[in-house]
Amino acid sequence: MSDRVQLKTAPSRITATADVWVLHLPRFGEEGTHFHTYGMLTPYFKGLAEGRLMATLCMNRGCPVGRGRGEKWLPPRADCPDCHQPMVWQEVVNPQGYIYTYTYVERGGAGLEIECPYYQIDVKIEGVGTIVKSYLLDRKPIRIGDRVRARFRTGKEATHTCLDLCFELA
Ligand SMILES: [Zn+2]
Repeated sequence: MSDRVQLKTAPSRITATADVWVLHLPRFGEEGTHFHTYGMLTPYFKGLAEGRLMATLCMNRGCPVGRGRGEKWLPPRADCPDCHQPMVWQEVVNPQGYIYTYTYVERGGAGLEIECPYYQIDVKIEGVGTIVKSYLLDRKPIRIGDRVRARFRTGKEATHTCLDLCFELA
C-alpha cells in the first residue's frame, strides 16, 4: 500500500453558465448523471482547481457578529449566517494550520471516493474562523495538533469537487 492516499474518482465534467459551474456526476452511468450546480459558491470550486483557497467573510458594518470585520468562513457561504447579507470573497494565502481532531477511516461505505485507510481530519487554518473538514494525504501515525498545509488537485487531476482540497503534514 502506498504511503499516500489516492482517490478512486475520475474528474467530473463541468459546464459553465455565465459565472456558475454545473457539475456532471455520472454516478449511475451516463444516463444516470446527476447535475449539481455550485451556484454562488462557484468561486470556491474554481479556486480549488487553480490551487487557491477562497473563503468568504462578512463586511457588513450592521452585522451583529462580524460588525464589518467578519472572520473567514470555510466552506464559504454566499450570505452571512448572522445578518443574511452577501459575503465577500477573499483568498486564504498559503493555507496552513493544525489538526484539530481526526478520524481514522479503515472501511468506507459504497461510493466513498477516497481510498481507505485514510485520516479524515478537521483543520484549524490560520486566519480562518471555522474548522475545515478534509482528508490527509499521509498515512503515517498522527496526533492532534500536528501541523498541516493545504494541497490542491489542479489541472487534469482536478475532480471539481470538494475532494480537490486536502492536506499533508508540514
Ligand atoms: Zn454578517
